[in-house]
Amino acid sequence: MDPLDPEEFRRQGHQIIDFIADYYNSIEKYPVLSQVEPGYLPKILPQSAPYTPEPIETILQDVQKHILPGITHWQSPNYFAYFPSSGSTAGFLGEVLSAGFNVVGFNWMSSPAATELESIVMDWLGQMLNLPKSFLFSGTGGGVLQGTTCEAILCTLVAARDQMLHQTGRQNINKLVVYASDQTHSALQKAAKIAGIHPQNFRVIKTTKATSFALSPDSLRMAICSDVKSGLVPLFLCATVGTTSTTAVDPLKELCNVAAEYGIWVHVDAAYAGSSCVCPEFRHFIDGMEGANSFSFNAHKWFFTTLDCCCLWVKDPQALTESLATNPEYLRNKNTDSKKVVDYKDWQIALSRRFRSLKLWLVIRSYGVNNLRNFLRNHVEMAKIYEELVASDHRFEVVVPRNFAMVCFRALALPKVEMVYRNGFNITEMISADDKRRNELNRELLERINKSGNLYMTHAVVGGIYMLRFAVGASLTEDRHVFLAWKVVQEHLDAILEDMGFNG
Ligand SMILES: *Cc1c(COP(=O)(O)O)cnc(C)c1O
Repeated sequence: MDPLDPEEFRRQGHQIIDFIADYYNSIEKYPVLSQVEPGYLPKILPQSAPYTPEPIETILQDVQKHILPGITHWQSPNYFAYFPSSGSTAGFLGEVLSAGFNVVGFNWMSSPAATELESIVMDWLGQMLNLPKSFLFSGTGGGVLQGTTCEAILCTLVAARDQMLHQTGRQNINKLVVYASDQTHSALQKAAKIAGIHPQNFRVIKTTKATSFALSPDSLRMAICSDVKSGLVPLFLCATVGTTSTTAVDPLKELCNVAAEYGIWVHVDAAYAGSSCVCPEFRHFIDGMEGANSFSFNAHKWFFTTLDCCCLWVKDPQALTESLATNPEYLRNKNTDSKKVVDYKDWQIALSRRFRSLKLWLVIRSYGVNNLRNFLRNHVEMAKIYEELVASDHRFEVVVPRNFAMVCFRALALPKVEMVYRNGFNITEMISADDKRRNELNRELLERINKSGNLYMTHAVVGGIYMLRFAVGASLTEDRHVFLAWKVVQEHLDAILEDMGFNG
């Protein structure tokens, strides 16, 4: 048996592609959220590995029978949870090509195309986003593909840390302060922990509903001033464009101005929303990012590229490489010594790296900038439809204004209670009544909806309010799925009210 027989690869490859195509043809038949119980799989699969080969046909049958029930269908058109992962033909096939070459492109020599294509694609994307030249290779900066935002933030934080300690001395590491809002992704906290930032120097600045949960530059300044007074050293701010809970947008320009006064490294985390900025009408969300030091977004979130693919640009690549470069003898080569090439191993945590740019290149070329923009716009339009549906039913409210393709909403009141039991009760009083009870109501509503398998949504709690997040972004979603989703939400609220005995 040959582990890499081209003809066998061709035969099995066709079967797998057919299997996936069939999956997409029937994807709506499955419950979106997997309904299995913990530990379902060990009960079914053998307890030890097969000693002799098994044919692909048998394995695929098991995938169909045993694996599919345990899959939550992220590519279903009825998937509206977290931030969806927008799959695409070009993304999947780019992944196949990249896996097919299976190169380990740690430095330029190890596969020149892997490095050079990555630099080209990062500049293409940077231009599509209208990033300042100072972030591009064609300017004075550069871009790199990381696996995830967590890695991008850790790498930039470590670069900022070492740059600062170089000036102030390594003994000052316990004085370095990292700033975040209470809406910043937990990725930053993890990065700060790994980077050795003292836990007491992780500043979480409170946001409020009044600013739609965006970080206030005044609050940042106050926190910084207080730290400086205590003899601490402000180091790093992670600003977010499109927060995970509610897609809030931090005011980059003002925040960067404050940060500049204190020499703070600003990273802009636009993991979800960054891709939308390739549309001129949404570009304003990252206005002011020229004052930042680094910027990242996940092409695997809302840019039709498979996991993993986080795009990171930095103004000062040398800051990254000074922190992350290693030069063991067994990797020495004249190209690296000539300093004429990029060795991406020095821009990331790991040594080995995948040929990720191939899939991004396929996505951009296969659809073109114009279609990519239209896909994103279409998602935003569908979210608008949903937002209007919510707003048109007085039993619900949109909790925070929608910025992108995600609607935060909740069931508000029990108007039928009012009709049946409380004639004459003031409805506005009802609405401002007990948020705790209302949180319970929404928790129950979400649980029932997800249990139904018709669609999948997740929640957030911000400012004490439990809200449902309706995130449009699965590539197969059409208007009809949005209308259907809304009908399911309404029906489940009706059912809850009925179970509570409120419908007479
Ligand atoms: C999803 C998300 C992250 C985490 O992304 P990973 O790529 O999983 O590390 C970070 N920040 C924001 C704003 C996100 O939405």
